[in-house]
Amino acid sequence: MNVSVVGSGYVGTTLSACLADLGHDVTAIDVDEETVDRLNAGETTIHEPGLDSLVSAYAGSRLRATTAHADAAETDLTFLAVGTPAKPDGSIDASVLLAAAEDVGEAIAEKEGYHLVVVKSTVLPDVLEDELVSAIEAASEGTESGDVGVAANPEFLREGSAVRDFMEPDRIVIGTDGDERALDRLAELYQPLISDWDIPVVETGRREAAMIKYANNTFLAAKVSLINDIGNVCKAFGVDAYEVADAIGLDSRISGEFLRSGVGWGGSCFPKDTAALVAGAESVGYEPAMVQAAIDLNDRQPERLLELLDRHVDVDGERVAVLGLAFKPGTDDVRGTRAKPVIEGLLERGAEVIAYDPRAAEAMAEEFPDVEYADSAAAALEGSRGAVVVTAWPEFAGLDAEFDAMADPVVVDGRRVVERREGITYEGLTW
Ligand code: NAD
Repeated sequence: MNVSVVGSGYVGTTLSACLADLGHDVTAIDVDEETVDRLNAGETTIHEPGLDSLVSAYAGSRLRATTAHADAAETDLTFLAVGTPAKPDGSIDASVLLAAAEDVGEAIAEKEGYHLVVVKSTVLPDVLEDELVSAIEAASEGTESGDVGVAANPEFLREGSAVRDFMEPDRIVIGTDGDERALDRLAELYQPLISDWDIPVVETGRREAAMIKYANNTFLAAKVSLINDIGNVCKAFGVDAYEVADAIGLDSRISGEFLRSGVGWGGSCFPKDTAALVAGAESVGYEPAMVQAAIDLNDRQPERLLELLDRHVDVDGERVAVLGLAFKPGTDDVRGTRAKPVIEGLLERGAEVIAYDPRAAEAMAEEFPDVEYADSAAAALEGSRGAVVVTAWPEFAGLDAEFDAMADPVVVDGRRVVERREGITYEGLTW
């Protein structure tokens, strides 16, 4: 098929490259010229395992990039995959998405015949129906055939394993208003995935599809917050939360996934999607108490990490190493990372922060330009009085002699990656 994808960020680039790999012709549309130029040169602006090789394989053949939204009219269907950030009150800032939708609507107004617009971005049901669908329909009014379909097809990929998650999803959710052509087009698009991997397809309404995405992310975020809450109790009792989690994970009703307690969740999705769900629910008169509790608990974990450090060192005027800045290993994304409140807490205490991350230092330096960034974990640890582990990069598990270069080493591990050993004062956050 001939597909256009508006927005070439983590989701849009993965979607574009993977659809090209499935045999489709893809036009990636982004407002950022550098992103477009890099894609056309076979490169990406983001770090995501396996993505570079797909983009370089298909750039110039099945994958091309442009800043022209008008090119959407040349394709069979258009995905909207631009960002939906949170406003300060937690509600969705849909302005970028609405602007993109209007541009696409105007482009397809010129087209003859049916065009399908597929919403990949994460939006609440009322924003989808009351704002987005209306914007697309209004902008495309007067299409040669007046024929526009809008479907919701939320994305569940995880940064750090985006390509694999896209290619082998647990399910594909397609929400329509009963438009059979939309269903047929998306079924055809995903056919190679569905037949190769026997992926279940959930056909549902548009509102339901939008809500499935929020329910999914909120459930996972709350699961992590719950195991963190239990982990904090374990720590107070002198119990190893990981032994507890391993055992309860054997209960099929619980499952072993998302049971690693620690310094909390971050990223571009969990924080904003839980906040949007709370703000959206409150706007219709309901207070989602469990979701709010999951957010509050997550906000408190970084301070708990620092309180453990306080038990052993007064960090005022001391050098403290922060190991890991990305919100999780495998990505350079620092959106919502727990490293931010950790660094802020250390700076408030008067510490001299030296940070290290194999991928995310550059992104973090934009927000914390005065923090020192080391080239290696060893360099960050050298001469530091304390160290906090914030991201579970596998390389931190191999640290050993590097701790000997610290002054009387105190290590507080927020991810259970560092080996407890003689000669280090070691504190695990929940063990
Ligand atoms: P992103 O910020 O990485 O990328 C958004 C891209 O859209 C940028 O390249 C930007 O330049 C471009 N853009 C902005 N306005 C545009 C316009 N008018 N026309 C064309 N391009 C425009 O965002 P992302 O992380 O890829 O997320 C996109 C959506 O997918 C969000 O709603 C997000 O919640 C959802 N989502 C994200 C993930 C994830 O892991 N990042 C997973 C599932 C769903």
